[in-house]
Amino acid sequence: RKPEDVVNFAAGPAKLPREVLLEAQVAALNWEGTGIGVMELSHRSKEFDRIQNECIGTLRRLIQIPDNYKVLLLQGGGTGEFAALPLNLTQSSDEVADYFVTGTWSQKSAKEAEKYIKVNYVLPKTSKYIEVPHESKWQLTPEASYVYYCDNETVHGVEFPSIPNVGEGKTLVCDMSSNFLTRPIDVSKYGVIFAGAQKNVGCSGVTIVIIREDLIGKTRKNCPIILDYTVQAGINSLYNTPCTWAVYILGQVLKWVEKQGGVTAMQANSATKSTMVFDVIASSNGFYYLPVAENSRSRVNVPFRVGSEENREKLEAEFLEEASSRGLLQLKGHRSVGGIRASLYNALMPNDVEKLTTFMKEFMEKKK
Ligand code: PLP
Repeated sequence: RKPEDVVNFAAGPAKLPREVLLEAQVAALNWEGTGIGVMELSHRSKEFDRIQNECIGTLRRLIQIPDNYKVLLLQGGGTGEFAALPLNLTQSSDEVADYFVTGTWSQKSAKEAEKYIKVNYVLPKTSKYIEVPHESKWQLTPEASYVYYCDNETVHGVEFPSIPNVGEGKTLVCDMSSNFLTRPIDVSKYGVIFAGAQKNVGCSGVTIVIIREDLIGKTRKNCPIILDYTVQAGINSLYNTPCTWAVYILGQVLKWVEKQGGVTAMQANSATKSTMVFDVIASSNGFYYLPVAENSRSRVNVPFRVGSEENREKLEAEFLEEASSRGLLQLKGHRSVGGIRASLYNALMPNDVEKLTTFMKEFMEKKK
């Protein structure tokens, strides 16, 4: 198949802008006429230094990162940060941090943190993640070292509609892996923001960490050095060999976002794309079913079911097969929840999503 014949709805790694890939093809062989491919440059060269600094500079412009925040580009994925956070933000295993668990990823993060600190679960425990519960159900700890939440749960499609109001003076920590740069971010409200690049802003191999400077310098002595924010912040994230290719791609995607009109353009696109899918589901008389509460629905990962409980499995298998034969790819829901999931990250355009909604309507007409 040709790239122009398919739409990739993968949850990550995910579709990248075609312009970025075309430029990357050239850079892979010969970066800016140096005769050396970008992957072949030393991470200690002035050329790579420029790639890294331009990448960080573009990110700073895109979301107006205040001067008292550092941007780190690390390895280890979002999962690495699950451990890095307690190891860098607390001094001992007696400290408590508040965790909002609204789906798989915040749950994994809380479990990882339990190895190093006491975790207070802010929300009532549940196995069904279908909403961000109302403030009246939150149980915050006054002495918590930080308050953690996942802005967008990739598996369950639960997204915080806005920054949770956890009170003045708290260190707010946020996993934005799956909705990073899909809407403006008020960085000044956070202690730490982190995001793996492989969904909205690049390929796997680099994780962005934005951290307020006063939180740096408190790393525990037994923290693995590659997760050590103090060390990495002091050396522009070059303690060891980074994934140079991923940093290059991240920089190129950030420039692409800027050219598209920045995060407000991405926000408008996200609203258009998700509304297109929500509308088909809402007008399907229950043929399609989205389990997430309206005020917590993700604009970037839309999980839904097809048909009724009796014929669901068969219909969903047919849905996926027919979608695939039309070039609508990687729509299978996460193995832990089943069903269908359409991931609508930045590189996907409304006309791509239209192909899905057209198919959804036709499939429903045929099967209902
Ligand atoms: N956080 C969120 C919201 C995710 O969706 C994922 C992965 O999909 C992760 C964290 C873990 O990222 P990684 O696989 O890069 O460790």
